[in-house]
Amino acid sequence: MKESEIKIIGKMDDESREEFKRETVAGLDREVEKILSATKQFELPKNEEDLRIIEKINIWLEEYFKNIGAEEFVKKIKADQFVILQENDFVKIGHDMFDSDWSHHHAKMMPGMDIVFVKRLPETEKFAALVSYLHEAVHIESRFKLNAFVSKEGVEDPRGMHRLGYSIKSTKKGKDEKLENYDYFDGLNEAITQMITLDILRQHGQELERDYSITPEEQKNFKFKDGYMGYEYVYMVMLQKLAENLNQNPRDYNKKFNKNIFTGDLMFLRDVEKVFGKGSLRVLAFMGSHPPHASDLEMIKFFEGYFLTEDENERKEIVEKIFSGEEDKGYFEKYKKRAEK
Ligand SMILES: [Zn+2]
Repeated sequence: MKESEIKIIGKMDDESREEFKRETVAGLDREVEKILSATKQFELPKNEEDLRIIEKINIWLEEYFKNIGAEEFVKKIKADQFVILQENDFVKIGHDMFDSDWSHHHAKMMPGMDIVFVKRLPETEKFAALVSYLHEAVHIESRFKLNAFVSKEGVEDPRGMHRLGYSIKSTKKGKDEKLENYDYFDGLNEAITQMITLDILRQHGQELERDYSITPEEQKNFKFKDGYMGYEYVYMVMLQKLAENLNQNPRDYNKKFNKNIFTGDLMFLRDVEKVFGKGSLRVLAFMGSHPPHASDLEMIKFFEGYFLTEDENERKEIVEKIFSGEEDKGYFEKYKKRAEK
């Protein structure tokens, strides 16, 4: 992480603020070292092909950034930022070190640390493997920002916020001063990340066939395995309406979404409220706030209906269903219970 990516919040003079910044970066670097040395024993060696793919990804990304006019934001990705693991080790590391369930994932990027843990997929899953390498690389390239709170006494406050592309994760004090985690815009962020990934691969379809023996068939059939399809669909529905109402071409407006995941300029998202009314940004933010949203067809239908309807009253009814009458944490708990059933 770079110092420019951190903002220290709290009452203090500039000098202390700079010092806290340096300390936070150093602390994170130590953390990365610790994680890497603990996972070293499980890491599979990278073969020729892995190295070739990472090199290719850098070339493709550089070209893509140039095309969307964001070349000054491109970061070079190094091979050692990818840690390749066997499936059981991948799940174990997610569970033991990050306290989360990675069994449904192919790869995971650690925001701010820019380290990707990847599951080694079988030879027959070449295209899926390529998708997950590139998808995580797009996450690495996405704009990162960390807000850390420091109290008067100079103690780091566990409250904080980080942003990666469109997604926001924040830790706030809820009722009884208890800390609670909130996720916003995760669905939108995954949709854009995955669509950029598939777009880049589509542009290099012939190369994939020639150099990696990945047939056009295999590339096409991936859509049946794409876990973010629901989010992509809702985004497309919203984009269409958004562009139409702003008298713009959806293709051009889509470019704005693709570019700003890297630049971090989110001001244009206000257009969502302009077109769909007050509270609509909050509805969009809510998509993906809980991981099961991605495969919850009923939920995806609600989001679709919300962005599709012209009827203000219908929209209100759908909001009720989306939030089940409860906002934020209360809803999260309720949703979790429902999803576990
Ligand atoms: Zn992702």
